Amino acid sequence: MNIKHHLDEATLMSYAAGSMSQAMALVVACHLSMCTACRNRAHESEAIGGMLLDNLKPAPVGDDALAQVLACIDGLPELEAEPSGASLNTSLNNRASCEKAESFSSNNDQITSASSVPSPLDDYIGSSLEHIEWNRIVPGVHYHDLPCKTERGGVSRLLRIAPGKAMLPHSHDGNELTLILRGSFTDEVGRFTVGDIADLDNEIQHQPLVDSNEDCICLIATDAPLKFSTLLGKIVQPMTGF
Ligand SMILES: [Zn+2]
Repeated sequence: MNIKHHLDEATLMSYAAGSMSQAMALVVACHLSMCTACRNRAHESEAIGGMLLDNLKPAPVGDDALAQVLACIDGLPELEAEPSGASLNTSLNNRASCEKAESFSSNNDQITSASSVPSPLDDYIGSSLEHIEWNRIVPGVHYHDLPCKTERGGVSRLLRIAPGKAMLPHSHDGNELTLILRGSFTDEVGRFTVGDIADLDNEIQHQPLVDSNEDCICLIATDAPLKFSTLLGKIVQPMTGF
């Protein structure tokens, strides 16, 4: 795999600090499972974070600190019971999957071929891209929503876009992470193939165009709704969920 587009430094630090949404952390974990270079940088970020913690001056703690913490816990409201065993299981499965993504740490490459599913993603869709249930937005553009949490109205989903199709031009109100799992696209930033990640902030406007002979499948997470720059984009935004 010839990966040319990587995670930026701020994204890696945020991931290492655990301050990222579950949706964004899933995309980062999937890229790390495919990219030795970013995995090494992530370990360095974790080491820097550990050194910063080591250098913190200890804060004095009163003799009654433990009693105060226990009193606070006693004062918390009881968690509401889940309405059914099935939903409890679903909730636990979702949480376990997202925690797996957030705590992902790999010493071995998890991708063995261009069409495999990254390990942190297989709890959601299984080990193949062939059996995903797709929803159609418009002809040639399909999506599959993932249950990871998003912030400020963002999305966590797989997109499948046909050859020659372009997304509507847009910018972002926050960050957008896009990991290529199959096929390729080109936008104002460059050409993205399998394993590449587009790590975009709110300063970039782009219009991805699929330039592969097969459908392009991407894992995408945003932390806020996209900002479409055309009237058509603004009209279809409520229908696309972006
Ligand atoms: Zn990378």
